[in-house]
Amino acid sequence: MTDFRATREMFHLPEGVIYLDGNSLGPLPRAAASRLERCAREEWGEMLITAWNRAGWMEQPARIGDRIARLIGAEPGHVVLGDTLSIKLYQALASALEMRPERRVILSDSGNFPSDLYMAQGLIASLGRGHRLVTPPPEEVAEHISEEVAVLMLTEVDYRTGRRHDMRALSRAAHAAGALVIWDLAHSAGALPVDLAGAGADFAVGCTYKYLNGGPGAPAFIYTAPRHAERARPALSGWLGHEAPFAFAPDYRPAPGIERMRVGTPPVLQMAALDAAMDVWDGVEMDALRARSVALSERFIAAVEAACPELSLASPRAPEQRGSQVSFRFEHGYAAMQALIARGVIGDFRAPDIVRFGITPLYIDESDIDTAAATIAEVIRGRLWDRPEYHARARVT
Ligand SMILES: *Cc1c(COP(=O)(O)O)cnc(C)c1O
Repeated sequence: MTDFRATREMFHLPEGVIYLDGNSLGPLPRAAASRLERCAREEWGEMLITAWNRAGWMEQPARIGDRIARLIGAEPGHVVLGDTLSIKLYQALASALEMRPERRVILSDSGNFPSDLYMAQGLIASLGRGHRLVTPPPEEVAEHISEEVAVLMLTEVDYRTGRRHDMRALSRAAHAAGALVIWDLAHSAGALPVDLAGAGADFAVGCTYKYLNGGPGAPAFIYTAPRHAERARPALSGWLGHEAPFAFAPDYRPAPGIERMRVGTPPVLQMAALDAAMDVWDGVEMDALRARSVALSERFIAAVEAACPELSLASPRAPEQRGSQVSFRFEHGYAAMQALIARGVIGDFRAPDIVRFGITPLYIDESDIDTAAATIAEVIRGRLWDRPEYHARARVT
């Protein structure tokens, strides 16, 4: 059994705040603050350069990778941490395209996170070999799978609507057409059970500062299926992905397996915070997390819809088609979200008209959901959003 009262106690949650934005930036695990302090003072401070060996800094990216592997159904030894999600996606895509040299189409969808699409566009330009990025609406992706497709590159859960792709079915269809599959798990890792090995994914990537609570700037992860691990050529061939970095050889030779996907020096302090954040998951069963996420989401949708007919559900109504967030469309969504934040209910806004709420059972319970829904009702019914200060756009929304 997973004890969600115990997991909630593991987080620092500011007084008077109901935090429904863990899908953008997870809150601070209490242990992460002390781990950061310890890593800085005892390791960096006292051990200096010797900490790479004595404190295990060099092994951290693969060791924490294994902790994440358990949550995403990856085989142990096939996940490594480092860099940002955009970079890891670029690496996975470049490697995959090389494995299908005769094909020219990258198939994604129009709801994918812009950075994923931008990285693909940039890679296409650098390659200069006439690749095309095709982005049909998410519901129509399956119809576009053909023998022209080199790589199917999708984010499992849509960042705006929370709509979830059928990972298993789409992976199978892509493989039947001879294409490879890359899954972006930015809104899946730590949000719902994922079975990468069972789905037959070729590559996967994800970030650790959303549902995994690793902190702002926490490193991303990358997975290469064991069948490709010794074959995939890392497009970013940095020294820490070299077979023998401290031989300082003039020529690049990839390290065995997933280690080759490392690029340069890992962010050690960020890794320390993430390692502490991963402790929270030790007692958590993903099926229990999912069941609770669905129950809390259903409760939230019912309460908001009952009180606010002005808001229309942007997420799929069927729980199995959603990730772990609930989104509504509202014409004055930006101002409404500012009014909510001013009242201690933190979600976020995504242009043009979506208000988005992350449902994170590790630290959100029924009473939070009820208070949040009541606050939303107050803001909408009373038109409390309609004040000039709530309309001024900040740089980050
Ligand atoms: C959050 C997110 C990103 C962000 O990428 P960074 O390089 O970590 O800034 C990229 N892709 C998806 C799908 C995301 O949800």
